[in-house]
Amino acid sequence: MAYDDNNVFAKILRGEIPSKKVYEDTHALAFYDIHPARPVHVLVIPKGKYADFTDFTARASAAEQTGFNKAVVAAAKAAGVIEPGYRLVANTGVNGGQEVPHFHVHILGGAHVGPMVARS
Ligand code: AMP
Repeated sequence: MAYDDNNVFAKILRGEIPSKKVYEDTHALAFYDIHPARPVHVLVIPKGKYADFTDFTARASAAEQTGFNKAVVAAAKAAGVIEPGYRLVANTGVNGGQEVPHFHVHILGGAHVGPMVARS
């Protein structure tokens, strides 16, 4: 998936459109999903321009990758879902159902999230 500078998360990072911030540090920004799928639904994005998980893993430095992982946990803490738990989702590419081409992790919680995915 190619990176598009005009994607909605790039605009949030540039401050061109608002977001409800949960957590921010040098590596990542976390904010509430505009259409929550569960009582708590937070998105965590790296500050660098990475299209998806594959791209992030291939091109981001070790410091960026470690920093991002720690930011996901910090965001989960800030959102109050560490206990009794939460689910991380990283939709990747067309078959993964990714809509926004800036790598992001969904944090879902606030209630039992349910089966891992619907069985078809
Ligand atoms: P994905 O399908 O994994 O690419 O998820 C994209 C997510 O971004 C969806 O859950 C959308 O509800 C969410 N989203 C889209 N635009 C915004 C926005 N402006 N602020 C917050 N979340 C958004």
